[in-house]
Amino acid sequence: MLQDSFGRRFYYLRLSVTDVCNFRCNYCLPDGFQCDKSTPDFLSLKEIGVFAKAFAVLGTEKIRLTGGEPALRRELPDIIAQCKQIEGIKKVAVTTNGYNLPSVISSWHDAGLDALNVSIDSLNPANFKKITGHDRLHKVLAGIERAQSLGIRSIKVNAVLLKNDNATEIDQFIDWLKNQPVTLRFIELMQTGDNEVFFKEQHVNGASIIAKLLKQGWQPIIKTHDAGPAEEFWHPDYQGRIGVIRPYSKDFCKSCNRLRISALGKLHLCLFANEGIDLREYAQTGDVEQLAMAITRLITGKTPSHLLHQGHSGMIQHLSMLGG
Ligand code: SAM
Ligand code: SF4
Repeated sequence: MLQDSFGRRFYYLRLSVTDVCNFRCNYCLPDGFQCDKSTPDFLSLKEIGVFAKAFAVLGTEKIRLTGGEPALRRELPDIIAQCKQIEGIKKVAVTTNGYNLPSVISSWHDAGLDALNVSIDSLNPANFKKITGHDRLHKVLAGIERAQSLGIRSIKVNAVLLKNDNATEIDQFIDWLKNQPVTLRFIELMQTGDNEVFFKEQHVNGASIIAKLLKQGWQPIIKTHDAGPAEEFWHPDYQGRIGVIRPYSKDFCKSCNRLRISALGKLHLCLFANEGIDLREYAQTGDVEQLAMAITRLITGKTPSHLLHQGHSGMIQHLSMLGG
């Protein structure tokens, strides 16, 4: 099992399949994805397979495919199926903005998808459009319904907390969970290279949500030893659960259990690391063993914590570059 110098174990890989996104979320890509003239050379299906196999050899059990918007990769069902077939990989998940979820989810399900994360920053259609630049809330919700009807049990909905844009909608989100068997995760806005001013205006501390939940009778779910950093809550009157992700809280990084590979084949030891370490040559030669050895060597360079508190967000300009 892959372990760092601080005893943290990494059984979870977040693998980005593209940097490109079609949404313009105000905290991520407010001006939309900026293409330069060159065609982006994202990891091929075969290269993704080499990364997935190397991580599986090292004990990875779960792969999350992310982006940019992963649904923009036409081969996504093949990528899911390939990851799913690798020995040791027990769970394959996708994080998506859900723009075309109703039409693609059955192909992902057929490919073996186990879990789905969908981003919904507002349940109010006009506000959803204001935040994301797209009037597609109805499609996203229809996609979740379709996923449920297909029997996909692990569905999480991500909402980034924004002081001026959705902080007044918390009660609406919570009410929605009465009859929705999904886990809603409130994510504290994180500072990136591009969103410094936005961050200062819009960051909300998730502690206020936790206080509200406890007051309403939501109860903390005891974490298993391999759980990630989300703090989760359940309530007997609600079908859904709530998670709060507070990257600025003390000890957030102590339970880090994930590593990241960018769509260009770089290893990011932390979302906010100063660099991505280029491992693509191993993926190109297909040398799983050498790649696994390189990752094992590099893991010793993982730092105990990010430096977000000091305002250092590392090399990431926006999370579309790596997938969150
Ligand atoms: N496009 C897909 C989506 O939006 O679900 C996948 C990629 S997106 C980068 C992954 C997650 O990161 C989304 O839930 C998004 O809301 C979240 N995210 C993006 N930028 C963020 C930021 N600055 N702070 C906190 N969460 C952020
Ligand atoms: Fe695209 Fe996701 Fe970023 Fe929104 S959060 S702009 S959907 S990558």
